[in-house]
Amino acid sequence: PPDVAVLGRSTWTLLHSIAATYPTTPSQQEQKELKTFMGLFSRLYPCWVCAEDFQGYMAKEQIRVGSRDEFGKWLCEAHNAVNVKVGKKTFDCARWEERWRTGWKD
Ligand code: FAD
Repeated sequence: PPDVAVLGRSTWTLLHSIAATYPTTPSQQEQKELKTFMGLFSRLYPCWVCAEDFQGYMAKEQIRVGSRDEFGKWLCEAHNAVNVKVGKKTFDCARWEERWRTGWKD
């Protein structure tokens, strides 16, 4: 089975990269596709305890896919919930795009 940390790191890279390239004004179809993708992702993620908790998070915190910034912030908050759970520092979600799309300025 994949190493949980290696899998997690690469998965967050993929998910935040999807957020970074998601349209600023997505169509209804694009919004529907992202919701479907994330719902399936939460069921297929190959770390079962992780997947179970992430499904629980999605059930409580409804996914926001109305724009790039909305989804980017939602995903950042979801990642922060995992950070708290595993005892890591939380990330300032005002800076998610700087980290994952435009690059740090300092
Ligand atoms: P990661 O958390 O992998 O983060 C990678 C990089 O993203 C960081 O270096 C930082 O630059 C940036 N970053 C950090 N926080 C944020 C944020 N909030 N928003 C945007 N960018 C950020 N591990 C477990 O042990 N138990 C679990 O239950 C668990 N559940 C998981 C659920 C999911 C859906 C995923 C994708 C991963 C899960 N993991 C879990 C793995 C865990 O989140 C980490 O990926 C792993 O511990 C490696 O951590 P890391 O220090 O390399 O940084």
